[in-house]
Amino acid sequence: MTLSNGRTILAIPGPSIVPDRVLRAMHRAAPNIYDGELVDMMPTITADLKAVAGTQHQVAMYIANGHGAWEAACSNVFSRGDKVLALSTGRFALGWADMASMLGVEVEIMDFGTTAALDPTRVEERLRADTEGQIKGVLTVHVDTSTSVKSDVAAVRAAMDAAGHPALLLADCIASLACDPFEMDAWGVDVMLAACQKGLMTPPGMSFVFFGPKADEVHKTADCLTHYWNWDRRVTPEGLYHYFDGTAPTHHLYGLREALDMIDEEGLPQIFERHRRLSGAVWAAAEIWGADGPLKLNVAEPAHRSWAVTMLHLGGSDAARLRDWTDRAAGVTLGIALSQDDSSGPGPDASFRIGHMGHLNSHMVLGTLGAIDAGLKSIGIPHGSGALEAASKALAD
Ligand SMILES: *Cc1c(COP(=O)(O)O)cnc(C)c1O
Repeated sequence: MTLSNGRTILAIPGPSIVPDRVLRAMHRAAPNIYDGELVDMMPTITADLKAVAGTQHQVAMYIANGHGAWEAACSNVFSRGDKVLALSTGRFALGWADMASMLGVEVEIMDFGTTAALDPTRVEERLRADTEGQIKGVLTVHVDTSTSVKSDVAAVRAAMDAAGHPALLLADCIASLACDPFEMDAWGVDVMLAACQKGLMTPPGMSFVFFGPKADEVHKTADCLTHYWNWDRRVTPEGLYHYFDGTAPTHHLYGLREALDMIDEEGLPQIFERHRRLSGAVWAAAEIWGADGPLKLNVAEPAHRSWAVTMLHLGGSDAARLRDWTDRAAGVTLGIALSQDDSSGPGPDASFRIGHMGHLNSHMVLGTLGAIDAGLKSIGIPHGSGALEAASKALAD
């Protein structure tokens, strides 16, 4: 007997749930890549991506996951021997920094721990001390998916401006785009990266590097640049071939087009509000579970929590047992904990993550929370009672 037969749910922070509309849009005969519908669709895709990012400037697309976007961003604006300041609130800034360093860029990590947002005053102090302007870029992760910490990217720009520092501001919005509010131009971000498989609701395989004029100027002399990552042709294409420096991801483009239509139909403010409300239900449940047992939200301060993902701690190996139970008995796959390269912290089996990004509504979140509640009971992890009631109230308010 299994209780997991039925439609399963992937409640992890990416890849996210792919809407049936997106799947249907991809299910078609191989399209003409020389002219016609697909070619005509391309400018609408870039225009709509830019609208989601809040930028008037450029977007280059890549057949790559988020790691590819990291490398694309670095290789377009940095030169060997440049120094960058990476602001870390979890695993992802470190992964990005690692990629920059493999390209020959010198990386300085500023570590803000794994449970709270970065502190812009420390960034300002460091930049003020860089009187020779050695730092060429500041790498920020808007939402660090490994910790579910959200940072204030606009405050980093304000810190850079206050220090009068000319470095580029780069932001990884792979987890947050179309989940947590973000405004590339208004916030003064020079380079922003995203991927299609989180808030953009498309199967993994495409990523995006948005850039403004200051980044494009630096790009002209960047010597980490390679033919494939070069954004020049990708933003001035003379045919479909140029957008991707080779064959286009034909079916992905149809899927992405449909996802962007869905975003347009719902409207970004409504999408943000939906994510805010759904994450509020997750936090309400977590607080009750934790009131009488080991479960704990990773980020104590609500303003520092992402609306796309929530990280929770159970201790010991209970998170692994819980994930196993919800998968086997409820058809709910919860996110694993990612290593923080910090052996002092809880082990990977001690924590788990709930993805609440993209194509998600109240009943899906309540289902996931219900499965967790049942799992805690089934494997005997002490927890406060009434978590589902609290989640339901949070949604009813
Ligand atoms: C998912 C994610 C990445 C990595 O993306 P992949 O597609 O797995 O390579 C990088 N940064 C953040 C913030 C992410 O959420």
